[in-house]
Amino acid sequence: MEKYDLVVIGAGPGGYVAAIRAAQLGGRVAVVEQERLGGTCLNWGCIPTKALIAGVEILDKIKEAATFGLEISDYQINFEQMMARKDLIVERLVQGISFLLKKHKIRHYHGIGKIISKDLVRVKTTEGSEELRTAQIIIATGSSPLVLPSFNYDRKQVLTSREILALSRIPESLLIVGAGVIGCEFASIFAGLGSKVTMVDIRSRILPTEDKTMARRMERILSKNKGIIIKTGLKIERIEHSAEGITAYLDDNSKIGAEKALLSIGRKIVTDNLGLEELGIERNKQGAIVVNERMETNLPGVYAIGDVTGKYQLAHVASAQGIVAASNIMGRPKLMDYHSVPNCIFTNPELASTGINLETAREQGYQVEVGRFSYRGSGKALAMGEEEGMVNLIVERESGIILGGQIMGAHASDLIAEITLAVKNKLTAEQLADTIHAHPTLAETVMEAAEDIFGLSIHQ
Ligand code: FAD
Repeated sequence: MEKYDLVVIGAGPGGYVAAIRAAQLGGRVAVVEQERLGGTCLNWGCIPTKALIAGVEILDKIKEAATFGLEISDYQINFEQMMARKDLIVERLVQGISFLLKKHKIRHYHGIGKIISKDLVRVKTTEGSEELRTAQIIIATGSSPLVLPSFNYDRKQVLTSREILALSRIPESLLIVGAGVIGCEFASIFAGLGSKVTMVDIRSRILPTEDKTMARRMERILSKNKGIIIKTGLKIERIEHSAEGITAYLDDNSKIGAEKALLSIGRKIVTDNLGLEELGIERNKQGAIVVNERMETNLPGVYAIGDVTGKYQLAHVASAQGIVAASNIMGRPKLMDYHSVPNCIFTNPELASTGINLETAREQGYQVEVGRFSYRGSGKALAMGEEEGMVNLIVERESGIILGGQIMGAHASDLIAEITLAVKNKLTAEQLADTIHAHPTLAETVMEAAEDIFGLSIHQ
């Protein structure tokens, strides 16, 4: 029987990162994965969506080319090529992880992992089963799309994020159920490609976890500029198949017909048949595995990271948790800190946030100032044709410490790193304002928002 210091179950951005870090710190490590290395993020999430979004952004620029003095009289969307490019990028990254596992001498078992006891994992493979003796275990089994029986999910007309990423043709019309991050990103992609998109959410606004004013602004942009029909505060009771595709029946007695429907109503934690009940591993009401700041479950030696912990459904949080768990396992104590988690929505324009927003700051009793700067005051944004954008910086009044920030606009997902660094390290608005930023760059908008705290922004 093989013996390891660590067996990781699940090779998404939580699991494979944890395995590599434990190996780097000297551990003998194995990873068990039932599907493809890279998990949801790499195969059916972050990467394939961003590969498609990159194409849609080019398309958006082509549509505006005349304003740049470029007359593009004809262009075609080759959806097959867009999807093939996406698949190639995914494949390359999956191979990259396989290479990294080999480089770090991590044994990869292709099969379904089950925890038999706190030092034994059984792997069911196509050939049979294998038992792995191990000192410690990390559960990194992720999440999968949530579907409800009333939506008649059939993978053909009623899809989840997995099937929509394998379409062979752009649907003429698309109903998106759920206006969270995943729903908004797919709305942006398919509206950009010419589908007639309707997005419905039971909640009163899109992106409910984001700053209210930013989310409202995004709602206006998606509906006015991108032609997406957005219906909030309405419940889809059921979806039925029809000759044209699907018909959705809403609680206000209206109907929506479309060629396809995408269900983006949330994700379900994957812990089935892992052996958690038998071992008494604690879970909360939502089924998430309960962990402490060291990422350890109530069973000593068994850790959990990523979507299964129900904290954030973000790849970089899964990886950060993986690094914390691996470090603790290898005798280097580390605690997980969630106070500066960046969250990025890759719509066009992008929306990114970190730390806390104004509403949360007030709820938590902070006295705050908000520094604001519009992309309209940025030379670089105007040169790029990207004047639709805004930076908000949330700063504690007395100390000047930056508590959070939100950016809507081009490259918001890259720019948020600076505010994240500031929040994580309790930097002040003055320190940010005093940092020389290269000109002309979009990063200057963040500096100007910090200057705005003191009423000293130069360009607005
Ligand atoms: P996963 O990536 O889900 O990996 C878990 C792995 O465990 C899977 O490969 C699964 O096959 C395997 N597994 C499960 N059970 C077993 C078992 N018993 N034995 C063996 N293997 C098992 N996040 C971002 O940060 N940025 C984004 O831009 C972003 N975009 C997204 C877009 C979409 C459409 C979706 C669906 C998600 C997106 N996410 C994004 C979320 C991100 O993909 C997840 O938060 C992340 O993948 C979670 O990582 P994980 O390691 O916890 O789990």
